[in-house]
Amino acid sequence: MILGGNNWLGVLGGGQLGRMLSLDARRMGFNVLTWTGGDRSGAAATADQIIDAPFDDPNALDEFTKKVQVATVEFENLPQTTLEKVEDRVKLFPSPQAVTICQHREREKNFLSENGFACAKFKVAHDLITFKQALQELHCDVIVKTAEFGYDGKGQVRLNKSLSEQEITQAWEAFDGGRVVIEECISLQAELSVIVARSSKCEILTYDPVENIHRNHILDVSIVPARIPESIQAEAKDIALSIADTLQYVGILAVEFFLSADGRLVVNEMAPRPHNSGHHTLNACTCSQFENQARAIAGLPLGSTKLLSPVVMMNLLGDLWIDENTPPNWDPITSSQGASLHLYGKREARAGRKMGHATFMDNSLEKTIEQVNVVREIFKLPTV
Ligand code: ATP
Ligand code: MG
Repeated sequence: MILGGNNWLGVLGGGQLGRMLSLDARRMGFNVLTWTGGDRSGAAATADQIIDAPFDDPNALDEFTKKVQVATVEFENLPQTTLEKVEDRVKLFPSPQAVTICQHREREKNFLSENGFACAKFKVAHDLITFKQALQELHCDVIVKTAEFGYDGKGQVRLNKSLSEQEITQAWEAFDGGRVVIEECISLQAELSVIVARSSKCEILTYDPVENIHRNHILDVSIVPARIPESIQAEAKDIALSIADTLQYVGILAVEFFLSADGRLVVNEMAPRPHNSGHHTLNACTCSQFENQARAIAGLPLGSTKLLSPVVMMNLLGDLWIDENTPPNWDPITSSQGASLHLYGKREARAGRKMGHATFMDNSLEKTIEQVNVVREIFKLPTV
């Protein structure tokens, strides 16, 4: 692809990940066409052009595939048929097969266990009988997760191992007859993620592992370098690289891990796209995860993933807003030396909705965390 020429990169999805991908890709000289699927919340304002139509619209498919030379996704919950139709006509990275595995927890867990990647013990259920059986066989505290369409902990419930028959039936009914994955509840020492970039020329790199702190099942803070032993970080990188190779993956892949209290490193899940825990790369790495997404799918050499400074990323959720349309005063962030504010242009704030993020950088991780904590105290958030 000739940068600065008449090249068009297509993005399926209209959220904040597409927004940040567009901004970086356009800075490099790509033209970006975003097919929103009806979600105009984040990316519509930053693309060169948009198609604001559902993913099953045949005219939108024609328009999209006539214009772009290469396409990618900014979220995984896309209809498989749309992905296959796009792939029939233009290059699409990651492949529909890879997206299909990552969008469905049962397929994802089967992929991991069949290929020898450690994950939490799990069972699958599709009715009350198989649900009861699974709980009996696992015989520990569990987290039940819908197989599809879960994000930010939605569609998940934690169940204690000593539930009565009646409570088990009630828990199953809440899932409304869908397929679920039931996994052991792991006592966590830490959570981490590794972001991998793998190009259509099979070049492969990772960013430094990220330590992630979740609150109410939503990512709250990401810290790099991770305060996790080097040997564990090296193991996580190796696993993430190996997953990307096994999937013959092209693009950015995020692999989330749990480190259990007894020192086991297991894969939690994968995201076939840039990831919230990689947002710090916009400020703190030579090339961001978004720039490398564009490079990887366009067959360009990957950019350096080198970390230039200790960094902490903090999500800005709708809870901080004064009301639906009124953001808080950002002075604590904008006046903080080494902080950078990113807002996604979403109009309606809601509790738990990701509205933006801020990154903080200083000479040492200790000083960076101090800066973050000053801001978090003002915003009445728990300190790191
Ligand atoms: P996201 O899309 O934000 O990554 P998600 O809805 O896909 O979230 P998970 O990553 O499966 O959900 O879970 C969200 C969080 O819930 C995890 O990061 C972890 O903090 C907690 N959690 C999930 N599964 C387990 C488990 N088996 N044991 C302990 N904690 C868990
Ligand atoms: Mg997750």
